[in-house]
Amino acid sequence: MPHPFVWVPGGGARHASKDRVPPPSVEFPEGTVVSTLCGAEVSAEVDEVSWLWRTCRECDERTREIVGLEPLSEIERRVGRSDRDQ
Ligand SMILES: [Zn+2]
Repeated sequence: MPHPFVWVPGGGARHASKDRVPPPSVEFPEGTVVSTLCGAEVSAEVDEVSWLWRTCRECDERTREIVGLEPLSEIERRVGRSDRDQ
């Protein structure tokens, strides 16, 4: 079963969203306004460069929670990088 979210680049970062991608697409069409897990609304951008943007920290944490992964903050604490920029 697929995860109940998709990654979408928009506004200078890669966010995750629970919005439904219009079938049969697997990602949001360019320009789609998408609600992200971090509470923002971004306009989807789908060129190759946008996929290289940094991952939104808050969306990253929320998706990890959804799929049952350890929080980033836990991992960073363990490896001693808790002073990392947020
Ligand atoms: Zn986000």
